Parts: sequence; structure tokens; C-alpha cells
Amino acid sequence: MSQILNSLVIASTHTSHFSIRTFFDLLTSLAYFTIPLAILFFMKKRKHVKFKWIYICFTLFILLCGFTHALHVLPHLMSIEPLQSIQTIAAGLTATISIITAIMVWSIMPRLLRIPSTAELEEANKEIRYLAHYDMLTGLINRNYFNILMEQVINEATQYKKQFAVVFIDLDRFKMINDSYGHRMGDLLLEEVSNRIVRTVGEKDIVSRQGGDEFILLLQDVSPDKAEITVNKILGLLSSVFILDGKEIHCTPSVGISCFPTDALDAENLIKYADLAMYKAKETGRNNYKFFTKAMNEEISFKLSLENDLRKALVKEEFEVYYQPQLDLNTNRIVSVEALLRWHHPEKGFVSPADFIPLAEETGLIVPIGEWVLRESCKQTKKWRNQGHDISISVNLSNQQLISNHIVELVKEILIENQLDPQYLTLEITESLAITNLTDTLNKLKKLQEIGVTIALDDFGTGYSSLSYLSTLPINFVKIDKSFINDICDKTKREIVKSVSRIASSRGLTVVAEGVEEEEQIYIIQSLGIGMIQGYYLSKPVPSKEMEKKFLEKLSFV
Ligand SMILES: [Mg+2]
Repeated sequence: MSQILNSLVIASTHTSHFSIRTFFDLLTSLAYFTIPLAILFFMKKRKHVKFKWIYICFTLFILLCGFTHALHVLPHLMSIEPLQSIQTIAAGLTATISIITAIMVWSIMPRLLRIPSTAELEEANKEIRYLAHYDMLTGLINRNYFNILMEQVINEATQYKKQFAVVFIDLDRFKMINDSYGHRMGDLLLEEVSNRIVRTVGEKDIVSRQGGDEFILLLQDVSPDKAEITVNKILGLLSSVFILDGKEIHCTPSVGISCFPTDALDAENLIKYADLAMYKAKETGRNNYKFFTKAMNEEISFKLSLENDLRKALVKEEFEVYYQPQLDLNTNRIVSVEALLRWHHPEKGFVSPADFIPLAEETGLIVPIGEWVLRESCKQTKKWRNQGHDISISVNLSNQQLISNHIVELVKEILIENQLDPQYLTLEITESLAITNLTDTLNKLKKLQEIGVTIALDDFGTGYSSLSYLSTLPINFVKIDKSFINDICDKTKREIVKSVSRIASSRGLTVVAEGVEEEEQIYIIQSLGIGMIQGYYLSKPVPSKEMEKKFLEKLSFV
């Protein structure tokens, strides 16, 4: 500072001797002092900690340069020497570079180091807050923010003894829309769905998108009755057609509702219960709503514990294959047995297949379980055949098994592994399976027939009951469902069975009557041209040992 003052004093008192050199020296000195000041000012303004030490070191370096320069120019300033051209040019250059450096520090450096200004930081913070709290696609609040707001609503409702409802909305078959029309259309639909929901609810109500096609609403200050009115409006609005990109899209929602304080007092359970009720709504035909009930909770607890045990049952060897005989009415011989899975639970005892098979299908466990049954049944059949029993095996094939790409290879592998001739294996499929993916199903069934396996259409009459399946599907057997056989004395049912039997015979198919329980039924069945029977009249499904003792050793039914 004293150098500047000195220069100024000398310049003012000896104006006549004031040279260009002195002017440049003065400029350089000013620059050296300007740079550290610029840096200090910059640091104070930006308050950026990360590059603090770089600036401190740079500042010290500039200060050192300034000090050295000052020492160098001081004698010249004092003596006021005549113009020395080279030194003047050098000093001029130094001054210019120093000033450019100062400008750089002030403007370019922060940009190069990408240090955001306070306004930029505030903007970025705003964006981060938005991303943390809102869904980018619909602009609705997201799961995290919904949970925070819900806690606040619960506190307020508890304090002022208010009621509110949590509404869980899931779009039915949204995946199908995504798959058929593409994800862009799916996104457009979600946006429009959120718009419709927002238009329906009140200003104080909270609407959130939880992800995918799931929305959760918090309807404030409402009784269950009032919540029901709003939900009905939402159902109506979402069920009406959507015109997106000039295309008509139909979409329905399934809705579950839980209420505060009757169902639960905390956010986690209220959401869980609304979700549970939504699944119940889906189960009962979609496009409707369900209020949460205590029974739903018990049912789900039972289901969850059963699912847990089911996952371990295969490893713990709790499954057993039972066999139910099939009688050829023409020869009065047990020609085949149907393999049926049984589960001996270590605590619950015998679990009904009606309880665990749907669960296994729902969870996908049916695939490994089904494979085990197929393997076990083929092994047992081979063993019986080795013992001289002329018997075939019928194994039920689940939808998921047939959908899997390697089912044909798996069947081949199991047959080879057990050295069982394919002609002794029948795979039973259901009508619903046949219509799921007709082309794919047809291909796989044909391939299975090509390797020599026979195919049976199981439970005929329970599902879509289309007689056209008898001609379109590559099948060898038709098993008429026991509901028809139970009422075989009824004229209408008997006529239906008669038609099925006639068409099946004309197609060269063997008809099996399932669920035969009484001798009287057999006479009618025989009169209708049905060749085979299965049911409690012969035997309930029994373990392999019992099967051997009761039937195989005689192979006839008396
Ligand atoms: Mg069956």
C-alpha cells in the first residue's frame, strides 16, 4: 500500500519526470494488490469451502510476487531514472498479464471450477427438494413426501379427534396397456389418471403417486360414508374412456380404503390395510372398491405364514404324491392313475390342496413344485412298470409350467432320466390355460405329442366350456368335470355330457368322467358312451404303497 502511495506522491510532485515506465510499474503494483482483494471478495461472496486452500495458496503467491516487484521498482521510483525502453515494455507486459489474471480470477475461475453462486445453489436446492418430494411424471407428491404429510395429518387428527380415509388406487391391467401401446402411452395414461383424480378430490386432500400405476389419496375430515362417495366418483371418472394420442384407451381401477382411527392409528398400517383391501377388490372382479375389514387381515396373515412354509416345504420334503385310479369301463381294468400333490405340514397337519395350490400358483412356486411332482410321478410309474404293472400316469400341468419356455425339454429330460416310455405319460391341462396364449400353447402341446406324450383337457365344463376346443386343441383325452357327473341324473346336464361325449368320440378322443361317486352314475355314464371313470367310487387319492396293495396287484376293479 505504501508503494502505491509513494508512487502517487512521486507522480504528483515530479510530474515532469513522470515516465511511462513509472506508470506501468504503478499499474503492476495496483494489479498485484487487486488480485488478492478480488479473491478475498470472491471467497466471501461464494462461501465455498472446497477450493478455499487453492485460493489461499494462490493469494499468498500473488502477494509474494507483488512484494518482490515492489522491492524491484522502488529504487526506480525513488531515483526517477530516464526511460529504459526494454524494462518499460517488460513492466508493461507484467502489468497487462497481472490485470488479465485479476479479471480471470474474478470471472473465469469460478466458472472453470464450477462453483455455483448463491442464487444457483438456491435454484439447485429447489430442484432437489422438488425431486425429493414430487413425482416427475405427474407432478403429484411422491411416496416419501406423502409419508411425511401423513404423519402431520395423523398428529392433527389425533389432537382434534378428526377422521380421515386412506384410499389405495391401482389400475387394472396397466401392464397390458404398456405392453400393447408402449410406455409413452402408459405415461400419458398415468398423467391423465392423476389429472382426473386431482379434479375429483377436495383442496385439502392429498394425492400421491407411489410408483408404477399406484396412487394413494388421503381424504381429510371424512367419515367412511363420505369417503365412499368420493371413491365412487373416482371409479366413475377413471372407468370412462381415455382419448390419448387419438386412441381410445379403456382402463379401470381397483380401490382399497382404510379409515382413521377405526382401522389403525399409524401411517404404516393404514397404507398396508388400504393396499390389502385393494387386492381384495382386484380378487373380486376389479373395477370396484373394498373397505378394509379385520377378516382381511387374518386371511392375509394366514396366507403369508402359509406362503412362508410353502417355500420351505419342497426342501423339507413335506410333499407327497398321492395317486387316484382311473378305470377303463370296457375292460374293467385300472389303466391309469392321476398324480395329486399332498402336503403334510409339520404343525398344521394335512393342508388342503384348495388352500395351497392357488397360493403356489400366485407365488410362482408351482413351477418348481410341479417339476418335482412330474419327476416323482414318472419315477414311481417306472418303478411300477418294472414290477410288471401295466399302468400309465396322468400329471396336472399348471399354466405357469406350460408358459415356461423349456417345458418340452423338461418333460423329455424327466422321461429320459426315468427311462419311461412317453406313451405312459399324460399331461392334464385346463381350458383357461388353452386360451391364455393359444398359438404358443398349441405349439408346445404339439411338440409334446410329437415326443409321444398324451394330452388331456382337464375339468371340462368348468371354465369356458367351449366345444370348439375339442377340435382346435391337440388333445387325446377329455375329462368331464365332476360338477356334471354329480348331476348326471339331471336331464339337462346329461344332455350336455352326451354332446361332449359324442363330439369327443367323433374326434377320436377318450372321455373320462371325473368325480364318480355312486354306482348308479356309472350306468348312465356307460350309456352315454364314456369309456373311463375316476372318482371316490373307485378310490380317493392314496399314497403309492396303498395304491399298490389295493389296485395294482390285481389291476382290476371288482
Ligand atoms: Mg386333473
